[in-house]
Amino acid sequence: MEYDLFVIGGGSGGVRCARIAASHGARVAIAEERHWGGTCVNVGCVPKKMMVQAAEYAAWTQDSHGFGWNTQPGTHDWAALMAAKDAEIRRLNAIYVKLLENAGVDWFFERATFLDAHSLQVGDRVVTAERIVIAVGGHPAWPEIEGAEHGIVSDQAFFLPERPRRVTLVGGGYIGVEFAGIFRGLGAEVDLLYRQRLPLRGFDHDIRDALVEALTAQGIRLHPNVTLQRLELRADGCKRLHLTDGRQFDSDLVFFAVGRVPNTRSLGLEKAGIAVAANGAIIVDAQNLTSQANVFAIGDVSNKMNLTPVAIAEGHHLADRLFGREVRNWSFEAIPTAVFSMPPIGTCGLSEEQAAACGPADIYIAQFTPMRHTISGRRRRTLMKLVVDQASQRVVGAHMIGDDAAEMMQPIGVAMTAGATKGDFDRTIGIHPTSAEEWVTLRVRTRVAGVARAAE
Ligand code: NDP
Repeated sequence: MEYDLFVIGGGSGGVRCARIAASHGARVAIAEERHWGGTCVNVGCVPKKMMVQAAEYAAWTQDSHGFGWNTQPGTHDWAALMAAKDAEIRRLNAIYVKLLENAGVDWFFERATFLDAHSLQVGDRVVTAERIVIAVGGHPAWPEIEGAEHGIVSDQAFFLPERPRRVTLVGGGYIGVEFAGIFRGLGAEVDLLYRQRLPLRGFDHDIRDALVEALTAQGIRLHPNVTLQRLELRADGCKRLHLTDGRQFDSDLVFFAVGRVPNTRSLGLEKAGIAVAANGAIIVDAQNLTSQANVFAIGDVSNKMNLTPVAIAEGHHLADRLFGREVRNWSFEAIPTAVFSMPPIGTCGLSEEQAAACGPADIYIAQFTPMRHTISGRRRRTLMKLVVDQASQRVVGAHMIGDDAAEMMQPIGVAMTAGATKGDFDRTIGIHPTSAEEWVTLRVRTRVAGVARAAE
């Protein structure tokens, strides 16, 4: 065989897997057909975060007035933002290739498809490998409605020629909520449609309630319990939305954020005997092994927890296991994650509802207006919440919406991974004056969730 390992897909997970395997002495190659760094670097986390940061300046300009500045909002140059974003992404693309070259990985900027369990068609040549890792990620889903072709999905959202005047987001998940904040912050009129009573299904209910308050305060028009039935292109180029509740309104851009689909079509998986679930995801076991003994799948293509750091951890762990002497240990139990709404959400572990289903849980909540916003006059509120398993007193959930929530949740994740109890949080000295000190000063239990203690 030509290679010990061939990785299909040069996104975050695939590149990490290839580099680490090569660092262990394996002969490694990787193929990427579209862009190095995958979704995260090119049409996901990285450009999204830049756009969130761009959007924040308008609100900060207003906030500054409370501190004595007379800064005026000015106008936003969309083309300049796009150019800055593209330049940063080009820089990152080049870094990814450099990392592969420095590690001694052969790379192909080609599509790779299976010929059998050990052979791949890579561009116009055939390559053989002892083991193969599939790390091809996913792509945005399109809803099956009449006129869907008049809308866009996230892949296009990063390449719009100008900022639309009116934007409608369809879907109340991560992407819908994040882009609602981005477009509103950059000055668009924004409507957000979601099928549930609250956005972000699966998140803690207090966070979801507080998010509705924050989105409304930002001036985003919310449309709960509804979705799009039909999209009609009007003669003037705008789109008329026909909603399931009979309402209609017009928008300049309709953006579908209705989930993602694994990229498993036309990969030749059947030629290699690799089983796929009904939703297109590659079926893997806990060790990322597919139904074929020498083929593995990592990241979004297996549709488990579709987050970049999870794909990276899976790729690194797999490379260590296959070729290393020591395996770096990762915990996939309490995975911290963030939604870059305005303000952002940080969350780790179980929601109150999930914890209550397992047994009694002590709930601690702090809600306050941070110092910056009492002065700015924006009164942007922060909510912080700890979910504590009553029997063990372990902190099993931490949730926050408020400034810096994403930054704060990372160290909270460390504490939770280490098994910290509420007592450990209480013993920790706070940093004053910060919002973060609230995590260690939550003295009074707000309520008990699940089955209450017999004594109560
Ligand atoms: P999500 O799965 O987060 O949310 C999908 C949303 O679309 C839900 O509100 C869902 O509603 C709704 N929906 C699904 N199908 C339809 C339909 N046919 N009509 C109307 N609404 C529909 O997907 P996203 O697209 O927002 O994001 C994809 C994934 O990318 C995320 O799950 C996450 O893993 C990842 N991501 C992570 C980010 C981060 O870490 N910050 C940022 C962006 C993406 P319902 O709840 O009713 O099912």
